Amino acid sequence: MEQAMNLELNLLETDILIIGGGTAGCFAALTCAEHASCKVLIAEKANIKRSGCLAAGVNALNAYIVAGETPESYLDYVRKDSAGVIREDLVYSIAQRLNQVTRKAEAMGLVIQKDADGAYVARGRRNIKINGENIKPLLAAAVGRHDNIQVLNRVNMIDYLVQDNRVIGAYGFSLADNIFYAILAKAVICATGGAAGLYRPNNPGFSRHKLWYSPFNTGAGYAMGIRAGAEMTTMEMRFVALRCKDTIAPTGTIAQGVGAPQINGHGESYERKYGIPSTANRIYSTVRENQAGRGPCYLATKGISKEMEEELFKAYLNMAPAQTLRWIERGLGPSVDNVELEGTEPYIVGGHAASGYWVDRHRATTLAGLYAAGDVAGGSPQKYVTGCFAEGEIAALAALAYIEGQELAAVGHAQIRRKLDEVEQFLQGPAGLYRVEEIEEAMQKVMDVYAGGISAGYVVNSAKLVTAKQRIESLVELSRALRANDLHELLQIYEVIDRLYVCQVVIEHLLARKETRWPCFQENADYPDKDDEHYFKYVNSRYRDGKIEIILREIVKKDEHYEHQD
Ligand SMILES: Cc1cc2nc3c(=O)[nH]c(=O)nc-3n(C[C@H](O)[C@H](O)[C@H](O)COP(=O)(O)OP(=O)(O)OC[C@H]3O[C@@H](n4cnc5c(N)ncnc54)[C@H](O)[C@@H]3O)c2cc1C
Repeated sequence: MEQAMNLELNLLETDILIIGGGTAGCFAALTCAEHASCKVLIAEKANIKRSGCLAAGVNALNAYIVAGETPESYLDYVRKDSAGVIREDLVYSIAQRLNQVTRKAEAMGLVIQKDADGAYVARGRRNIKINGENIKPLLAAAVGRHDNIQVLNRVNMIDYLVQDNRVIGAYGFSLADNIFYAILAKAVICATGGAAGLYRPNNPGFSRHKLWYSPFNTGAGYAMGIRAGAEMTTMEMRFVALRCKDTIAPTGTIAQGVGAPQINGHGESYERKYGIPSTANRIYSTVRENQAGRGPCYLATKGISKEMEEELFKAYLNMAPAQTLRWIERGLGPSVDNVELEGTEPYIVGGHAASGYWVDRHRATTLAGLYAAGDVAGGSPQKYVTGCFAEGEIAALAALAYIEGQELAAVGHAQIRRKLDEVEQFLQGPAGLYRVEEIEEAMQKVMDVYAGGISAGYVVNSAKLVTAKQRIESLVELSRALRANDLHELLQIYEVIDRLYVCQVVIEHLLARKETRWPCFQENADYPDKDDEHYFKYVNSRYRDGKIEIILREIVKKDEHYEHQD
């Protein structure tokens, strides 16, 4: 290691701190700015113009109440798709706002496709088509029009500032300058998205960061909450995406857009053999067909019209250009060649599955002053872009109400200094025995083999999970000795440590759900059946004194407005 690097302390104050300037974070900031004149600060590790899940654009709003549907029917769909274990109150409150937030996005300049009568073009029962390559720049531009929103780009947040079980701000460091930030706030909204990179991915080596989920969402918000003792829910419900092989491009556009069925290597349609079609079942049936020797599996697109093919080229350019490039480069478009399928490694993502902070109906977490919105908030799967907007709005309105009459907390210099010392320790002293890539690779291998990754067919059992737990604990120990030469390496250290914390909680949750509820997302070979009697419940957890306590909670129905009590 060359000369040790020190960071300069910068103490900032704001009314509402939003961690993560992605979909939910930007929308929360806009809501605050439109309703009050308070100061809002967004701390974003990348640049809000092209960060998070929306960085490359999307081509549909997957959650919208189309003509003939209602918020109740949306709730019904989500309930069925997740075998009942959802927070109905949260999902319903999102469903009620979906169309209103869509109109707001359109007013920002988002192009929503319309038919000859001016109605939005629906794709299936809950989606509408957009030209969404520029959705993130549009959101960022809207944020930029408000003087009371300050944006700190390229600042990686690492932990909350907590006093008497109340979140009073957060710590982070710049990725551009040697600055350590301590940001005091009357309320904090966490909107850092989900966690990618816990499991060994589909592609090795140079392409290992070619993931479905944003590789820069490394579970920081979950990890910060875990370390601060916030209650988490349903972390065992991983999300495995069914994707176009190699490019990891989404498949919904083909399945719903041109109605292509899933077929196996013998040309047989197989999905229905494995029960009622659901998000989990689409991937589960594909894995099982491959295991039975009937692969490869495809989306049967051969024979679609040239117009449909052209539409697919365009749709993927809006969202996953690699797929269009692949079709064109091989000279074999979907009208002449079926699209091969594969499952991704599991992700933890509360916008597709239900993992994340345990929140009340206002999106308040169990720590006073801390709210959560978007993929980081638990209990409400299938929220997608518009659901994240809706949650950003709900959390912002609740945070605004919370800060009324609230003063900024006073924080002692010693408390901040201790945290700065902790960060600087990674920048000083001799290099550790291992490099961050080695810890990352070991973590992903452990999770893959022992905690239900691709190579394990996504299946877990108790003995393997216990091994995973022990090995991840050892990696946490080893990670303390990691050393960084620059701010980028410091970021990588925090990213891997955050992911290790999330892994620990995921493993405990997988151990705790002694049944199989969502094959592939959560499938336990020791308990291959669904057990409603004991597990029609939420598996929640809290990290206390280095241990993860499991709490089982009863299902909350649509009209029961859950409030935190214990
Ligand atoms: C490839 C892909 C395609 C999708 N397609 C669609 C679609 O077509 N339609 C649809 O409706 N939904 C789609 N979704 C889902 C939807 O995009 C997400 O659910 C939604 O955007 C998540 O919003 P979020 O605010 O929770 O996270 P994000 O928008 O990802 O925002 C999280 C932000 O937090 C920042 N951040 C992370 N860690 C830190 C930290 N430590 N400090 C500071 N900042 C941090 C990130 O940089 C990022 O900007 C898709 C998702 C993916 C991944």
